[in-house]
Amino acid sequence: MTTTEDRAPVRGPADGYPRPALYIDGEWTAGSTRGEPVIDPATEEVLAEVPLADAAHLERAVAAAARGFRLWRDVPVDRRSAILHDAAALMRARAGEIGRIMTREEGKPLREATGEVMRAATLLEWDCEEGRRAYGRIIPAGRDQRLSVSRVPVGPVAALVPWNFPAGGPMRKIAAALSAGCSIVIKASEEVPGTACALVRCLEEAGVPAGVLNLVFGVPAEVSEHLIAAPEIRFVAFTGSIPVGKRLAGLAAAVMKPAAMELGGHAPVIVCEDTDPEAAAAECVRGKFANAGQVCTSPSRFLVHEAVHDRFVAAFVAAAESMKVGNGLEDGVQMGPMIGARRRDAVDRLVAGARDAGADVLTGGHPIDGPGFFYAPTVLTGVPAGAAILHEEPFGPVAPIMPFTDLDEALAIANALPYGLAAYGFTRSADVADRLVHEFEAGILSINHVGGSVPQAPSGGVKESGYGREGGPEGLDGYLVTKRVSHRLRG
Ligand code: NAD
Repeated sequence: MTTTEDRAPVRGPADGYPRPALYIDGEWTAGSTRGEPVIDPATEEVLAEVPLADAAHLERAVAAAARGFRLWRDVPVDRRSAILHDAAALMRARAGEIGRIMTREEGKPLREATGEVMRAATLLEWDCEEGRRAYGRIIPAGRDQRLSVSRVPVGPVAALVPWNFPAGGPMRKIAAALSAGCSIVIKASEEVPGTACALVRCLEEAGVPAGVLNLVFGVPAEVSEHLIAAPEIRFVAFTGSIPVGKRLAGLAAAVMKPAAMELGGHAPVIVCEDTDPEAAAAECVRGKFANAGQVCTSPSRFLVHEAVHDRFVAAFVAAAESMKVGNGLEDGVQMGPMIGARRRDAVDRLVAGARDAGADVLTGGHPIDGPGFFYAPTVLTGVPAGAAILHEEPFGPVAPIMPFTDLDEALAIANALPYGLAAYGFTRSADVADRLVHEFEAGILSINHVGGSVPQAPSGGVKESGYGREGGPEGLDGYLVTKRVSHRLRG
């Protein structure tokens, strides 16, 4: 029989990259491979092959999660939280090493990648403390009766996450589930399996019992159908694109299973005339090109008051042209490649469509030659309102900038799409800021900067960007069931 050690992620074909594996019921297992490669998007080097779960693996994972749940929910909360703190400490200690794995498989600059691992550790620490505060309450009812509300873990969770935050994405789900007392089967992204394995390794070594945490990769539609239909699974947590989210929400609804959907966006930015346009542009460039624009909350439609439009555009273009683009392992690189040829070509199609419709490409507008899936930081102006890039989530390093004359018009454009994830405003006026906060149809708002997610505050969308929240006390809501308990004391 193979031991856990034999099956643990080991060095893969590419030096320094771990061989990814499935983690089911406390054992690392190779899964079956159909030869899908994990590719370094900066070099196109094959790093490893993705192990895939078949139906038998998934059945084992679900059964393990059912057993793991019965065990974990009854582990004293102090003990649970101590184990999770230990796991976070291991993640911090290995942040450099895990960050390197992430940069190789996802492409983001090493500093961003290492920072993401540290943030994932902070998230785990915060959530596990919040799990200790999953209070119920006592409601006045009379001398003979105790009326109370208790919150208990919902049960085994199925989670599916995308590739763009290889540490933050999985950890959002794992931290919330384990902190609430749930077990989890998580399908991390097949594009970036190394980071997920390294994180799970930390949790395993910290003492998370077998069955509580199960990690799989697979054929996405097969895995989601299997997990969502399994009666043992009680909650579905998904982060990804709107079309897939709609499909999974439908599968969950068919079996009346609660779900949280963290989906895509197309975030508007309104830059008002009372703003310093150079400072606003510097901040927007930083936010726009983080992770090569492959961020669900990435600012992606820039509406700039005509009085400051030209200065904003000039500063934006200058900053975009000064970005150092390259392999994220190299010093000083500010923007890495896109995740793959498919995404790069999708962005190029949107840019070409805008250009054909009459837009001006002020900088970029093309893939960068050579190995790797690089796309030049791109700025567009004069984009006609009907161009696809103003309607479809670009998910790439492209900034369309449009002038506006009055705020009503800008807000109408900002709110016109079915998306409602993030929105940004730049103004020195408290009144205007207040109006933007009130009227933006989005779940994540930033004024005068491009704010990132933090563990202590909730993130999530409205409209087609989904439902449910991650982070903050709200982040545990989906993982907990609220029970009303009425207790007659003298009978
Ligand atoms: P995706 O929807 O293609 O994939 C997300 C997950 O779903 C992955 O695990 C993938 O393997 C799986 N999947 C893909 N096709 C599936 C199918 N037919 N059935 C079941 N599962 C399937 O998304 P992506 O391209 O990997 O990620 C980018 C998208 O994720 C963007 O739209 C982005 O905005 C969104 N996103 C949202 C948030 C958020 O918090 N709201 C965060 C990050 C990314």
